[in-house]
Amino acid sequence: MSRRGLVAGNWKMNGLIGVADSLVGGILDGLAKRAGKSVCEVLVCPPFTAIQSVGKRVGGTAIRLGGQNMSEHKPGAHTGEITGQMLTELGCTYVILGHSERRSMYGEDSALVSRKMASAYRDGLTPIVCVGETLAERESNRTLDVIGEQVSAIFPNLPADEAKRQQLVLAYEPVWAIGTGKTASPEQAQEVHAFIRKMLVDKLGNDTASKVRILYGGSVKPDNASVIFSKPDVDGGLIGGAALKAEDFLGIIDGFPG
Ligand code: PEP
Repeated sequence: MSRRGLVAGNWKMNGLIGVADSLVGGILDGLAKRAGKSVCEVLVCPPFTAIQSVGKRVGGTAIRLGGQNMSEHKPGAHTGEITGQMLTELGCTYVILGHSERRSMYGEDSALVSRKMASAYRDGLTPIVCVGETLAERESNRTLDVIGEQVSAIFPNLPADEAKRQQLVLAYEPVWAIGTGKTASPEQAQEVHAFIRKMLVDKLGNDTASKVRILYGGSVKPDNASVIFSKPDVDGGLIGGAALKAEDFLGIIDGFPG
């Protein structure tokens, strides 16, 4: 496989600066012990208030830094919002967009997520666009329709530049598996990932589609990571709860060497 594995930690609204510092310190120590071993790309996405201090710790190391959300707008009168440039200024290279919590709690729809993606590219960030179905949608056999709608929405706003398109990261996160301890089976994950890959092939061509990384997220833990990551279209993980303990996050990273 030509795609490099990526394990991303979404810390959500957790971690005052001191806690965030010790968490990233633990991850750095663990990665130092793995020096010389083949390790996948590692990304941490702290809350906005801890990005600067975590950024100081990870600067010059292999750990990448990302935001959990950003505004679609350029700088201006948008109280409480944050631009992509504000994230890049702090050293972020990635931003998570359209997480199911943003979609369900803050009314973000696929069109808005797509516009945010365009803004992220404009501001020099690599977007990680999350998609996923609810339990009711899965139980009524609408999983692929929902994923189809969410993925289709991104195409009109993708940059024309092939290299930028190839940087895109998608994250399949079944809503029923997020923070619930229920994980999609490796086969369920692969089915949806293969469906997304086929959409990418049809719309963007083989070359680009084969480079876009598709992460799985939803109750990934050290003991289930490697079997999920072994599936051909699963290129890594977006990790919530288990990203808050250095040891667990490192255990997941070990599930996806290289
Ligand atoms: C998430 O919120 O993106 C997530 C995958 O959470 P968890 O790993 O806790 O299920």
